[in-house]
Amino acid sequence: MNSTNPRRDALRKNPEWRERERAYERARRRVRYEDETLRQEKNAKLRAWRAGMTEAQKAKQREAMLARHRRRLASDPAYKAAHRAHQLRNTAKRRGAIGAGEAVQRAFIFERDKGVCHLCGLKVKKAWVLDHVIPLAAGGSHTKANLALAHASCNARKGANLTHLF
Ligand SMILES: [Zn+2]
Repeated sequence: MNSTNPRRDALRKNPEWRERERAYERARRRVRYEDETLRQEKNAKLRAWRAGMTEAQKAKQREAMLARHRRRLASDPAYKAAHRAHQLRNTAKRRGAIGAGEAVQRAFIFERDKGVCHLCGLKVKKAWVLDHVIPLAAGGSHTKANLALAHASCNARKGANLTHLF
């Protein structure tokens, strides 16, 4: 088990070092185990709690969630825009505008835009997205004419427009 690292080989022969290394590994494993156990316990409690709820309690919870949602829609413009984009996306999905043709459209727009981000004018590398030039939430469409190549980071900087999730 000799490696090309003489220092490391010497360390491996040192029992004290090996014991320290083992103790360190044991500690790491314990933390990982405890994390996982804790998570599972929490989930089990939550499941049991939900299973024990009566229909009336469930209805009450749904009502409370809906009320919270409506309050946020009224008070938080970014939340409202995200919700609108989500709705439009679902509509587009139902109509079949998004789905099977998507991969082809991505390739088409990459070619058309010559691999250049329409927001900053630089070439894109790995993390690129199709940006809705006019956001869906603002009435833009999910069509080639309204889609342009963008860095994921540039797209995210467009702010409250969450349509880059497409
Ligand atoms: Zn860019």
